[in-house]
Amino acid sequence: MQIIHISAECFPIAKVGGLADVVGALPKYQEASGVSSSVVMPFYDNKFTQSNNKKLKTITKGIVSLGNQNFDYVILKLNKNVLGFDVHLIKIDGLTDKENVYGYPNDVERFVAFQKVACDYILLVKNKPNVVHCHDHHTGFIPFFMGHGFKYSLLKNIPSVLTIHNAQYQGDFEYDKMHYLANFNIENAGLIDWYGRINPLATAIKCAWKITTVSPNYLNELQEIANGLEGLLRNEKEKSLGILNGVDTGVWNPKTDFMLVSNFDLRSVNKGRKGNKEALCKKFGLDESLPLVAFIGRFVYEKGSDLLADAVYNVLEVQKQKVNILVLGSGNPETEKELNDLKEKIPTNFNTYIGYSEELSHVIYGGADFLLMPSRVEPCGLNQMYAMRYGMIPIVSNVGGLSDTVIDIDNGEDGYGIVINDINVHEISFAIQRAVDVYANATFFKAKRKQLMKIENSWNKSAKEYLKMYESIIKLSKK
Ligand code: ADP
Repeated sequence: MQIIHISAECFPIAKVGGLADVVGALPKYQEASGVSSSVVMPFYDNKFTQSNNKKLKTITKGIVSLGNQNFDYVILKLNKNVLGFDVHLIKIDGLTDKENVYGYPNDVERFVAFQKVACDYILLVKNKPNVVHCHDHHTGFIPFFMGHGFKYSLLKNIPSVLTIHNAQYQGDFEYDKMHYLANFNIENAGLIDWYGRINPLATAIKCAWKITTVSPNYLNELQEIANGLEGLLRNEKEKSLGILNGVDTGVWNPKTDFMLVSNFDLRSVNKGRKGNKEALCKKFGLDESLPLVAFIGRFVYEKGSDLLADAVYNVLEVQKQKVNILVLGSGNPETEKELNDLKEKIPTNFNTYIGYSEELSHVIYGGADFLLMPSRVEPCGLNQMYAMRYGMIPIVSNVGGLSDTVIDIDNGEDGYGIVINDINVHEISFAIQRAVDVYANATFFKAKRKQLMKIENSWNKSAKEYLKMYESIIKLSKK
């Protein structure tokens, strides 16, 4: 079986969030289980491509048009021996040759052109894939182009899958850019429309042969709230399925993780985590004897990051809880400013690193005692799974994949996390108080740590579920 994944992100080439982790891991696990799997993604002019420049081989060149504008492109191949699967990088002059993944005024042009070239590439390959697996709205037109684009009629019978990593972002735009799309029979224009706008996520939900979400609970939630797509998702429920993400245990292994200050396994967890905690406390001026609660993530409303500053103030200044809090993240400028200001106001027991640091995130997973995730929306959430694998207790809201992966510590022997049912400053502060109490009982706390590390959240299980799903649509394509 041969699968082509198409995505805007793939770790370690380009990462903004969990999408990159998934697309950097799943193909590796698929290759290991005998499924031939590769990735097609935009080229970015970033650290990874600069340092691997010599390993990139030109496969083909061409021209892609958006209306009457033409852009030269090159497709570069990164050989399997680098990441464990082949990657094809689409470099379109003036469009995808930028440093960052998102955030440019011409993102619509960048990703529409990328999707057209991705389809050109599939047309070109001799051995056609059995399934084209698209990820999020940046690849949402591909199932439509394959099914209805005049140029791509040869791809009509290849099954396509859309995985929704986050339905908040849909990539919708006005009709004045419709002429950018690959030509199609105008009778099918309804497929690209959602309430008077062109919406690539809605397009893929309508056109892909299968829809998956990154956790079973998120699929249920999307039937009720999906940023305007709930009705459509209810309509397409029959072809939808929730498959929980996994942990790439090659990257996330506390015994071999080269980003940790102190490596450890189940037997040496107490000593190892102490080493990482000491390093963190030293770097951020925190008191090692107190429990350390950390947040890692994008500062967006969905992550509950707007509540962090008030919660930190309430916990440390009003309630005077004996705890350290460390925040790693970036995003909303207001949140960044609030947290920076708070650092001045509370010089001890609180610190923040505003920015993105893969390395620091690993040391936090390996050394901080509790991970705080007060998310309002969390399609799967990888942070809590990384935390658990490293023996860090998750404090999470009761939404999306967090509900699928965390059992409250008061819920019998199987429990290991702290679940927050309502997301507000009061409840977050109460959850931190519960964490402080758990920490105070050292024997119990250490036993829970070990329990967490034994939980199996690897990709092996999820990769099998994807395989079953692929087999079901390949069968359909042969009917
Ligand atoms: P999302 O994709 O919504 O951002 P996920 O939980 O699926 O959330 O994945 C987040 C990933 O991004 C994790 O690997 C997390 O460690 C990482 N991450 C998020 N923010 C930062 C940051 N500021 N520095 C380092 N890693 C980060």
